[in-house]
Amino acid sequence: MTESNKKILIIEDEPEIRRFLRISLSEQGYVVISATDGSEGLELASQEKPELIILDLGLPDRDGLDVLRSIRDWSQAPIIIVSARGNEESKVSALDMGADDYLTKPFGVQELLARIRVAMRKNSGGSTGSAVVTVGKLKVDMAKRLVFLDDIQVHLTPIEYGLLQELVKNVGGIVTQQTLLRSVWGLANTQKSHYLRVYMSSLRQKLEENPAQPRYIITESGVGYRLKDD
Ligand code: CA
Repeated sequence: MTESNKKILIIEDEPEIRRFLRISLSEQGYVVISATDGSEGLELASQEKPELIILDLGLPDRDGLDVLRSIRDWSQAPIIIVSARGNEESKVSALDMGADDYLTKPFGVQELLARIRVAMRKNSGGSTGSAVVTVGKLKVDMAKRLVFLDDIQVHLTPIEYGLLQELVKNVGGIVTQQTLLRSVWGLANTQKSHYLRVYMSSLRQKLEENPAQPRYIITESGVGYRLKDD
């Protein structure tokens, strides 16, 4: 299965990583164009109108976050950040500025391809376009607000359901702590990430075979949570 001719722009200064991305993505049928710094990246983004952009944060000429902000001024193309920076602040900043996802180097091809599919799907109008979402043995009927595991109904509290719903709306994609807190508890509580830990833990107790090694609800440390797609 190939992604017929969708254009991906890579903005990355490290030649080996550029080469790795170019080869991996071309093999999948993507049309790959690349820039070696932020200025060239911005130029190509406006000229070539790629369907998706992979952006390195550590660029030689300008901060990747500046590049991200400039692109977001006029483009809604999904942007996936790839960066060696492990620090959580830069991930959160990038997501707050409108990046769609974040990969920390080094990362595997399969992981990258999965994130690209999720980001492109999200951009083409809704995460799923369906009221019933199935991930592995988990089935969520968003119209009826019902949750099933192996076809057996699971009873969730309104808060647990609210959190799960946010993750389901964005299957495979990262949902930040801010987004979860805002949507479930309202704006006033965006600092209270311990609420999230408590309720995510009870959600895992109900949904995960082994809550200590979750298969569905993955923690993105210091950033948020992700409902893992297959
Ligand atoms: Ca770099």
